[in-house]
Amino acid sequence: MLDTPHRRYNALTGEWVLVSPHRAKRPWLGQVEKLSPETLPAYDPTCYLCPRNERAGGIFNPDYVNTFAFENDFAALLPDSVDEVPASSHPLFVSVPETGHCLVVCFSPRHDLTLPELDLPAIENVLSTWAQNSADMGNEDYIHYVQVFENKGAMMGCSNPHPHSQLWAQSQLPNEIIKELATQTEYFKINNRPLLVDYVKEEHKRKERILFSNDHFTALVPYWAVWPFEVLVTAHRPSASLKELSASETSALAEVFKQVTTRYDNLFEISFPYSMGFHQAPADGQPHPEWVLHAHFYPPLLRSATVRKFMVGYEMLAMPQRDITPEVAVERLRSLSDVHYKHREK
Ligand SMILES: [Zn+2]
Ligand SMILES: [Zn+2]
Repeated sequence: MLDTPHRRYNALTGEWVLVSPHRAKRPWLGQVEKLSPETLPAYDPTCYLCPRNERAGGIFNPDYVNTFAFENDFAALLPDSVDEVPASSHPLFVSVPETGHCLVVCFSPRHDLTLPELDLPAIENVLSTWAQNSADMGNEDYIHYVQVFENKGAMMGCSNPHPHSQLWAQSQLPNEIIKELATQTEYFKINNRPLLVDYVKEEHKRKERILFSNDHFTALVPYWAVWPFEVLVTAHRPSASLKELSASETSALAEVFKQVTTRYDNLFEISFPYSMGFHQAPADGQPHPEWVLHAHFYPPLLRSATVRKFMVGYEMLAMPQRDITPEVAVERLRSLSDVHYKHREK
């Protein structure tokens, strides 16, 4: 593997990342500060996501026992958004209407249990809730894409520590999906095989970046990763959506999620912040043989619980850049226990 500056091509987005491994040669220092462990209550009477509590507008949450999905009280998209945007008189000033709606999905009634702390059946419940709700939203006539995502931790702008996620359904395809649809379609046209199926096979041959895998899913630090501990979780077969997964595939995905998020928490022995989301095929009623269901984990932390990577300067103005290589990052994650640090015998 190159240890001099080089750029790597992201086959999924068609963009490049600058890798500067020589800058990361200094060994991992002992300066891993730990934050005092946060202890959250199992139930918080002031939390608007806990069971039985009041939300905006005087609505009370049910006494839910598994997952809980509801329309976001402050949605970024509205189903009856302006249907007429004033016609643009100039090609440099273009806008089009965007309609949609947004759900919030709580992982469990427990205020204090994040994904890695849930047991496998509970994680499967979360996956099934995402699958059912994104299928239902995708079946609405005017919806063409559903984004499932979780912002975890205050560092990622998450405003409520109660573990939850969001589903945004919209009438137009968002930027990342436009890019990934173009690259996967092009690859499929040329090779008659899905890009990600080939990519994962190649990664398994090389074995340099695999974090964890089972019969149906693989988690790896992608060759083109931008964030220090970025992870891609991808299905082994072409699959357009979460709803397409069989029961055994859903169990396999739950296992991979537990492995990835547990190692994340164990890295700095904190509740590891990230933005995570699934990329499902457009919900446009068309077959998508080129598409392989996958999830991206983008965590901001670099060297410790408090040292984060910033995307500033060169990254904002030119292109993303990283020092620690994906191969070194995956080695760090692989070397960690898959038993959550809170459950470890002292
Ligand atoms: Zn809560
Ligand atoms: Zn993607």
